[in-house]
Amino acid sequence: MISATVDEAATLAEQALARLRRDGIPATPLNYTVWYAYFSGLYPDLTRAVDILDSNSQPVTEDRCTDLYRKFIGAENEAAAVRTMGDRLQTALDEVLTSLGSAEEDVSRYSDSLTRLGGQIGLSRTIEQLREMVRHVAADTVEMAARNQALQSQLTDSTSRIEAMRRDLDSVRREAMTDALTGLANRKQFDLALRQGAVEAMEQDHPLALLMIDIDHFKAFNDTHGHITGDQVLKLVGRTLAEHAKGTDTAARYGGEEFAIVMPSTPPDRAAAVAEQIRKVVASRQIVKRATSERLGSITLSIGVASFQPGESLGRLVHRADSALYRAKNGGRNRVVVAGAAEPA
Ligand code: GH3
Ligand code: MG
Ligand code: MG
Repeated sequence: MISATVDEAATLAEQALARLRRDGIPATPLNYTVWYAYFSGLYPDLTRAVDILDSNSQPVTEDRCTDLYRKFIGAENEAAAVRTMGDRLQTALDEVLTSLGSAEEDVSRYSDSLTRLGGQIGLSRTIEQLREMVRHVAADTVEMAARNQALQSQLTDSTSRIEAMRRDLDSVRREAMTDALTGLANRKQFDLALRQGAVEAMEQDHPLALLMIDIDHFKAFNDTHGHITGDQVLKLVGRTLAEHAKGTDTAARYGGEEFAIVMPSTPPDRAAAVAEQIRKVVASRQIVKRATSERLGSITLSIGVASFQPGESLGRLVHRADSALYRAKNGGRNRVVVAGAAEPA
């Protein structure tokens, strides 16, 4: 966390406490942290989520504080998960190393014993002496085999524990890359997909398209129908985008009510056709308020489409798609606009 000066921190603390007092919520460390984080502005997504609640006159209850904390200050959750996983991995590795260490001792004892017995073969004079030696070798070998088996089952144990850890880590990682509301890729995964798409586009000389999608007049929709129904619409848009994202495409929630699709190996006309299809499908869907079955009409999208120009920065690509989106808004919304190569800065 970026540190504040003593005075700044004191002001933030007072604001947090005042808000908790106003809402009648106890100043537990968790509730306090949420409001301190809110006033500090260090967690923009949290600040936005709270502003949306406020603008919809939704109370920030203690339960909501817990949710907000989990969702937005969750980097600390991630750090805790990483620590626990790290400890588990360390334990598993220690076990394997111990098993291997004792196996190494066993093997070297076995090998010493065989060497010693080998040296005595030449000294054997009688069948009885040879039989005795064979008995020793057989006994040592049986013992070695038994230890080997124990080692094998220890290693199998360790393997399955490490395997379980790998699965857990995969799911933690997936969670960290997914938007909780829509199940689409989150901003972090969008950034990765765009970067990877651009690298591949340049290496393989393939086109790469980017769609920036924004819901029209969504503030008014929220103000009229409430935040919960608004969230339902975000999910609906998310589902529609997921249905239209094919193969290597990445459909993402870019921020609040903005979405994006990264489309590798997709020429501009194809990307524009997909955008147009998405626009039509969403505009044709009737929104029904789940709680009351009330028909709320439809919502529309404005979409900007840009194609990657090899060598341009990703910021520039996003900017061009955004400018096209802006023109779609100014042109009357509910439309798709394709960006030119020389979109003004
Ligand atoms: P425009 O057509 O110009 O895009 O108008 P707009 O009202 O959609 O745009 P504006 O940026 O003014 O408002 C976006 C609104 O989106 C503000 C907020 O109420 C809503 N919003 C953002 N994130 C969420 C969310 O997670 N849930 C809900 N329900 N609403 C959200
Ligand atoms: Mg917007
Ligand atoms: Mg909007």
